[in-house]
Amino acid sequence: MSKPDVTPPSHFIRQIIRKDLDAGKNSGRVATRFPPEPNGYLHVGHAKSICLNFTLAQEFGGTCNLRFDDTNPEKESQEYIDAIQRDVKWLGFDWNGAVRYASDYFDALYNYAVDLIKQDKAYVDELTADQIREYRGTLKEPGKDSPFRCRSVEENLARFEDMRSGKLEEGKAVLRVKIDMASPNINMRDPVIYRIKKAHHHQTGDKWCIYPMYDYTHCISDALEEITHSICTLEFEDHRPLYDWVLDQLDVPCHPQQIEFARLNLNYTVTSKRKLKLLVDEKYVTGWDDPRMPTIAGMRRRGFTPESIRTFCEMIGVTKSDGVVDVGMLEFALRDDLDKRAPRAMCVLNPLKVTITNWEAGKQQMLTIPSHPKDESLGVREIPFTRELYIDQTDFMENPPKDFKRLVPGEEVRLRGAYVIRCDEVIKDANGNVIELKCSHDENTLGKNPEGRKVKGVIHWVPAQESVPVQVRLYDRLFNNESPDSGDKNFLDFINPNALVVVDNARAEPSLAKATSTIAFQFEREGYFVKDDADSTGGKLVFNRTITLRDTWGKG
Ligand code: ATP
Ligand code: MG
Repeated sequence: MSKPDVTPPSHFIRQIIRKDLDAGKNSGRVATRFPPEPNGYLHVGHAKSICLNFTLAQEFGGTCNLRFDDTNPEKESQEYIDAIQRDVKWLGFDWNGAVRYASDYFDALYNYAVDLIKQDKAYVDELTADQIREYRGTLKEPGKDSPFRCRSVEENLARFEDMRSGKLEEGKAVLRVKIDMASPNINMRDPVIYRIKKAHHHQTGDKWCIYPMYDYTHCISDALEEITHSICTLEFEDHRPLYDWVLDQLDVPCHPQQIEFARLNLNYTVTSKRKLKLLVDEKYVTGWDDPRMPTIAGMRRRGFTPESIRTFCEMIGVTKSDGVVDVGMLEFALRDDLDKRAPRAMCVLNPLKVTITNWEAGKQQMLTIPSHPKDESLGVREIPFTRELYIDQTDFMENPPKDFKRLVPGEEVRLRGAYVIRCDEVIKDANGNVIELKCSHDENTLGKNPEGRKVKGVIHWVPAQESVPVQVRLYDRLFNNESPDSGDKNFLDFINPNALVVVDNARAEPSLAKATSTIAFQFEREGYFVKDDADSTGGKLVFNRTITLRDTWGKG
């Protein structure tokens, strides 16, 4: 695809903040937060929110907190808490002070709830969950008051204490705020703010058997942390009146401003934690960090750089209307970044033996090849040239089409960084498969063109004995449908069976034996590849393909 504009647009949230600063709001402070629920790994959609919150804070000399929004203990875990912190850091951001947890505020949230009851703005409802739903009404019909709505403050305090102390069983009672059962906004029809859950919590242990609901928790947590701009995705727009209502009733340190933006939707991708968890739980992938996953952990293992993800998040901008972004843009940002920083190396995926008949057996010539065509700071690597080499099977054709510029019988081709060779003889097995080529090299062609003739093709190669055997995993898009989970489609029906092709007998140039997983290489003519640390064990060396050199999905 053509190069998209990468200048960061001055989006509407930046403009709001600038205006607030000009008006002297919040005493010139900017404080944002990133509030993940630790119920899964972060995905590329979260990256958009992370980049937005952290870079706005940086830009305006403010702060950004990391706060775990942990009000659903049964679905949350320490594994997710650890993974999320690792991923935010890897993306290049550092939060303000200690990691925070909504559960840090459980005492305060409880006291605020008591306060609401005392103001006669909250009540304990003992209708069943089904009845509550029924009483809530619909978009067209107003709701109706629960018979428990008019309980006295004393009775509510006593029943809330029964909830807190464990006297009441799960589902037997909830605490609701008293707003308006006829509100056109269903979120304002006396939403539940506490429910009974006899669950162990990863942070607070068994201290609580009632847990606050998200909407109630979130606004108070923001206020307690003195957040100035509480940035969230569009689906919370209808919740904003509740956010503001709760804070207006309580004596809190400040009243943050909630601002909504459009979430990132990527084509060929699923970005719902629930669906990603299903892929993991049902073993469609090997884990949250499977290189096919759109998780930050998966992308890291796949060889993405944090810079490419951050650039992508800048490219897509921040708007207020939902849209779908072409995953090609993410891949563009990745290729663009890797082209600049990836050291080059040679790896032959489908080895075909080549014997240089006019090269002495046992003779080695150490060739020094720059690691990057433009960036000298990446240094050089050494590759021994020997009598026996491997080239890729696809770089030789016995009966080539006209435009084939690689090796053919009787013709010449250049070996990258080495000599021009000519194919003199084709050796086949009993089934007629080509198993070896006998070639001769022109000794006057190292680093210079042959005299009196043009050799157009350049192919990659490795020495036969000195190269290292590697397993190469060719990854591609996880879904082969543009919108795998739109409408009533089942995303599982669109898993791309070719999203992983394992090549077992590849041979890499010797320098790759010392590769690390921190930066992808460009395997010349093949794509970008990164060492897989997790599976490179016991002498086995595994490389993941980060991305092909060119977009093969583009239309036309
Ligand atoms: P999911 O719907 O996948 O479960 P979530 O929104 O429930 O995701 P949270 O952990 O609550 O996940 O998300 C933390 C923050 O990241 C929230 O502020 C949320 O709005 C934001 N976020 C989540 N998904 C996206 C997305 N696709 N694009 C932008 N921001 C997102
Ligand atoms: Mg959420």
